[in-house]
Amino acid sequence: MSEDKLSEDKRSDDKPGALQLLRGLGKGLATTAKTLARPAHTRQYPHVEPDLPERSHGVIALLEENCTSCMLCARECPDWCIVIDSHKETLEPTTEGGRARQHNVLDRFDIDFSLCMYCGICIEVCPFDALFWAPDFAYAEGDIRNLLHDKAKLGTWMEQVPDSALPEGYTRPGTAVEEAEDATADKDATADEDTNTKDTKAEDTKTKGTPEGAVEE
Ligand code: SF4
Ligand code: SF4
Repeated sequence: MSEDKLSEDKRSDDKPGALQLLRGLGKGLATTAKTLARPAHTRQYPHVEPDLPERSHGVIALLEENCTSCMLCARECPDWCIVIDSHKETLEPTTEGGRARQHNVLDRFDIDFSLCMYCGICIEVCPFDALFWAPDFAYAEGDIRNLLHDKAKLGTWMEQVPDSALPEGYTRPGTAVEEAEDATADKDATADEDTNTKDTKAEDTKTKGTPEGAVEE
């Protein structure tokens, strides 16, 4: 047999027959049917919310009252995506003969999440417990410019910071402890007001008792 004839026979053996094609098609359809009947392994977000650990690194929350505008986070951020503005204010001395003090007032604290790489360095370096991880991840935007979030927005994410990550002594706004503290403060203020009113009344009575007060009447 010539070499040409041999290679022609081999080529015809390699070609799949109609039976093989049908068998392959059947196998494929069976796999599709099996998969159709099986529940999906992927989470059907946004219809099903993922069950994330509470300390997930989703977004950065700012506790504004703790921030001293020291700029450490902005300087250490590898992406330069934190923008801080502040001004100085003078605090009058609280004691007689004391010195007036200056403190920073935070005007602007923005994080550009279109640049942020979620490394967490800003949270690690903050010496005043002002930055925290919150698990919220659903803040995608259609326009990249809307990923620049200011201190008001960063502050709203504090609600989602888990209790275990909160600084010692911090009470969430609206909690029973905070309401009790507010009530005590209100009570103190009312008591002060009552004392002032009583003092004024006593002074009025005194004035009326003096000869000048009598002349006026
Ligand atoms: S997580 Fe990293 S990249 Fe993002 S703001 Fe903080 S330091 Fe910058
Ligand atoms: S968040 Fe922390 S590190 Fe950043 S400016 Fe405020 S106090 Fe400083």
